[in-house]
Amino acid sequence: MLTLEQAQDAILAGVRRSERAETVPLARAVGRWLAADVAARVDHPGFDNSAMDGYAVAHADLAARGFRLPLKGEARCGDAPGALAPGTAMRIFTGAPLPEGADSVVIQEDVQRDGERARFPQHSRVGDHVRRRGEDFRAGDTLFDAGRRLGIYDLALLSAAGVAQVPVVARPRALVMATGDELVAPGEPLRPGQIYESNRLATLLQLEALGAETVDGGMVRDDPAALRALLRRSTDFDFVVTSGGASVGDYDLVRQVFAEIGEIDLWRVRIKPGKPLAFGRIGARTHFFALPGNPVSSLVTFKLFVEPALYVWHHGRHQPLELPAVAANGFKRRAGRREFLRARLYSDNGVLRAECLKGQGSHMLGTLRHTNGLIVIGEDSEGFAAGDPVRVLPL
Ligand code: AMP
Ligand code: MG
Repeated sequence: MLTLEQAQDAILAGVRRSERAETVPLARAVGRWLAADVAARVDHPGFDNSAMDGYAVAHADLAARGFRLPLKGEARCGDAPGALAPGTAMRIFTGAPLPEGADSVVIQEDVQRDGERARFPQHSRVGDHVRRRGEDFRAGDTLFDAGRRLGIYDLALLSAAGVAQVPVVARPRALVMATGDELVAPGEPLRPGQIYESNRLATLLQLEALGAETVDGGMVRDDPAALRALLRRSTDFDFVVTSGGASVGDYDLVRQVFAEIGEIDLWRVRIKPGKPLAFGRIGARTHFFALPGNPVSSLVTFKLFVEPALYVWHHGRHQPLELPAVAANGFKRRAGRREFLRARLYSDNGVLRAECLKGQGSHMLGTLRHTNGLIVIGEDSEGFAAGDPVRVLPL
């Protein structure tokens, strides 16, 4: 059996990087991966300007003139003010360009106006309340490297940098299907021995959240011919994700049929839930994941293997945040596998606490109501007691 890291490394090493890119406007770029580095088009700030409402001065004038200066002119936002007349102060507003000859801004709260003159405080310093041209970034600076997945804040930065559109990796196409003779779509009546299918929708939506264009391949019987028919379409896709039918000792149907059209490896990984899963390739383009059928195993293996694979495919890097937390309750077990326990994470006066939820069977979905993270237990650990330090993966 492989460790989690061995399996992840081997799977990610088998992922091809996409070669298709397109250009999209910022409004459509959130969640997309950059296909090339992106540089700022302008300096930011673009010019020296005021950080406050107040008065622009040449600081040396203050002491030289007994902290009393005549007022002359006004610097407004969106305007180019003229030069500061020597020995005067100019009214200025937040964001307005600093007039030539000024080097400081005195905030209006500290200034006593007396008609067209004003009295200034003695404590101000050179450069106070001035935002310097280029102090944030300069035109030509690389703001993001290729492979960066763009978030909402990134788009604010790109807007400020004058970037209107970005080169991104074209979206992958993904086909999802669930296998099992027992499966019925919710809304249909159940006959004896049947259950409602619950993996496909979550898999489709997780893939979409990762930027994929998805096709719902539906539910497939445990019948080689039916599965073969669907898998024939798989060469149009970058990713094919199935659930069920992949375990050893089962009908092992997915692996059998898949082996006819591609290369597949069955992975026995020392993790719980989710032990057996299969990964393979069809031709140059298609990556194939056969996830376990148990609903929680399918969710966890998606997180651990499919999600990082999508990052790598996009030339990106997946770096999930594993955080230290304090166990709110205890959990005992036999050592042996890396285990992922569904947990409720909450903050308690600045301490991150993790409550291990009751009902950890890999068929048990009820626990998901309260799950917002996973407690990660190392292979050698026999569990933990309330108050012990644990590591958690927020979801
Ligand atoms: P399998 O991986 O096909 O051996 O299935 C393992 C367990 O997960 C069995 O109890 C199946 O009934 C169940 N299962 C498989 N696929 C699904 C699905 N799509 N939705 C809900 N349960 C499933
Ligand atoms: Mg099955």
